[in-house]
Amino acid sequence: MNAPSAAAVPPYPRVSPCRHCGLAVLRDNDGNWIHASLSYACRDRWGGVAGTTAEPAPPAPTWAAPTRWSGPPPRSPERGAGSATV
Ligand SMILES: [Zn+2]
Repeated sequence: MNAPSAAAVPPYPRVSPCRHCGLAVLRDNDGNWIHASLSYACRDRWGGVAGTTAEPAPPAPTWAAPTRWSGPPPRSPERGAGSATV
């Protein structure tokens, strides 16, 4: 059997969408992520620097789920222990 080369597989594909701006990002010669537009900084749709740098989105489609954890749901006491107006 001619098994495929078991070379180290990078955790991300060669080209991934940027998790910040969605632009395609790839690795430069130094292994840093850079946008396909050859810009390290993310830019918004108007061309302004967004303040974030190229970062690949995780392979799992977790971006579709809300990432902001709003904390545990508020616990409402079963019985109002305290001022009971009788
Ligand atoms: Zn970006």
